[in-house]
Amino acid sequence: MSAVPGRLENEEFILSSLAPSTTQKRLALAVVLILLLGFFITAGPLSSVQLAPVGAFVPAYAAAMLVNDSITAVLLFAQFSILRSRALLAISSGYLFTALIMIPWMLTFPGVFAPRGMLGAGLQTTAWLYIVWHAGFPTFVITYATLKDRNPARRVSESSVRAVIVFSIAVTASFVCAATFLVIASDPLLPHLMLDTVHLSSLWPYAAGFASLLSLSALVLLWVRRRSVLDLWLIVVMCAFVIEMVLISFPVPARYTVGWYAGRVFGFLSGCLVLFVLLHEITTLYVRLLRAMLAQRRERQARLMTADAVSASIGHEIKQPLSAMIANAAAGVRLLDRGTPDLEEAKLAFREIVADGLRTGEVIDGIRAMFKKNARTRTSLNIHELLRETLALLAGELQAKRISVRVQTDEVLPEVKADRVQLQQVFVNLFTNAIDSMSSNDGPRVLGVTSEVHSSGGVIVSVTDTGTGVDPKQLDRIFNPLFTTKSHGMGMGFSICRSIIEAHDGQLWAVANGSSGATFQFLLPAHPADHPMKTSERLNDHPRVCPQVLGQQ
Ligand code: ADP
Repeated sequence: MSAVPGRLENEEFILSSLAPSTTQKRLALAVVLILLLGFFITAGPLSSVQLAPVGAFVPAYAAAMLVNDSITAVLLFAQFSILRSRALLAISSGYLFTALIMIPWMLTFPGVFAPRGMLGAGLQTTAWLYIVWHAGFPTFVITYATLKDRNPARRVSESSVRAVIVFSIAVTASFVCAATFLVIASDPLLPHLMLDTVHLSSLWPYAAGFASLLSLSALVLLWVRRRSVLDLWLIVVMCAFVIEMVLISFPVPARYTVGWYAGRVFGFLSGCLVLFVLLHEITTLYVRLLRAMLAQRRERQARLMTADAVSASIGHEIKQPLSAMIANAAAGVRLLDRGTPDLEEAKLAFREIVADGLRTGEVIDGIRAMFKKNARTRTSLNIHELLRETLALLAGELQAKRISVRVQTDEVLPEVKADRVQLQQVFVNLFTNAIDSMSSNDGPRVLGVTSEVHSSGGVIVSVTDTGTGVDPKQLDRIFNPLFTTKSHGMGMGFSICRSIIEAHDGQLWAVANGSSGATFQFLLPAHPADHPMKTSERLNDHPRVCPQVLGQQ
């Protein structure tokens, strides 16, 4: 994916730049509808019903808002430190502002901590602080909405993020302190918003109207420029702000009315909303990131495994021809070392070295072809001939280990379409495993190979030995890459054989043979020219060769 100029790599994981999903949009709409429903229920005559002042309400509400908005501010500042966008800095400061202004608002509220409020507050102080708060926050939101689409390349530099955060906190705190000081100091001079500690004056709707207008402007601006999850939820918050104002102001502006209490509740709920959404989104993104990280780790491990498997395959496959080359070279040297060198025999040994060398090259090509599917051309061949050829290749080893070979084949065997070198690799692997298994056996050593026509029309080959046999518990594990019970084994033989056979539309499996050695079988479809039926039909419509066929995937 190409990077978008000015965009940060991690932007897709940041809430303020993440586009809202349809569910989030629906949820936001549902919340607005609930708020409106609440508004219509409480608005009207019910709104002005005067209730008793609940002493603990204001401090509890203010403390909850303080905690809520502080956490939101911290989370937004954290997002700013990643994205470094000025818009995010504005909205983080906005939440810090609402959190901080709660303190003087609560302390100066008449009858909460002192009958006339603390900090030397006058009658008008709390109401004006409320207006500062409700005009201040939408102003921060407007700043956010205005800045958010500015050239994203113009970010705060990474090195100054910390300093900028500290500076914003200091400025916001100073602004709150200054506003508090000014409002308290000029209390007697300020237009009267309060008639007494409960009733609001006729000026109040104008002040509240001004603050609501700011909230509405923020709402419209956000709506026009909405793009992210954060924009969406700020729209909801702005709706709640307007509803709160209207509930407090109409029809009778007074404290402790149903509308006043309901307005607080809506205000608090809207404050919580952004926090909940932030927390939910951050957790979801964290899980997504964690999953992505784990997937990346698994992919890296798989790649390592493949690299491991490729190198092990090459090692495994060239080991046999290399050993043959060494044996032939040693024989050649011995033949030349004699008093009268046996030149003819030596020549034969060297020819075999050449043949083995060529075969090694082909084997390597074969392994590469296995990882590059269909890279090799397949030819129509007679399995029985290939089988004899491979046994001839291993004749020396079979003789040295005193192993007798019994070959049985059906008179007429259909040809199969296969890669000659790859199929020979399968035979070599099966035979060398059988040889290894019988090497430690004192009893009769017999390698049995049968090739027959299978009921499906394909060719089934069975390789049986009188060796140690396979532990039934390990029957399904022996096909796993890197599984070996041999001290010098690589555990790649079977996994390579199975890949080769399956690449030829066949199947390879082990048959439980009791304690008398092991049997491995593979089935290959006949060449289409020999049998007109489709391979898949042939492989699927026949009963299993052996009821105890094991180790198949
Ligand atoms: P490797 O030969 O390097 O161990 P393979 O994948 O060819 O790798 O074989 C995996 C394991 O299967 C062997 O280590 C051995 O335990 C078991 N095995 C394979 N062939 C035979 C056999 N003919 N008789 C008994 N065990 C066998």
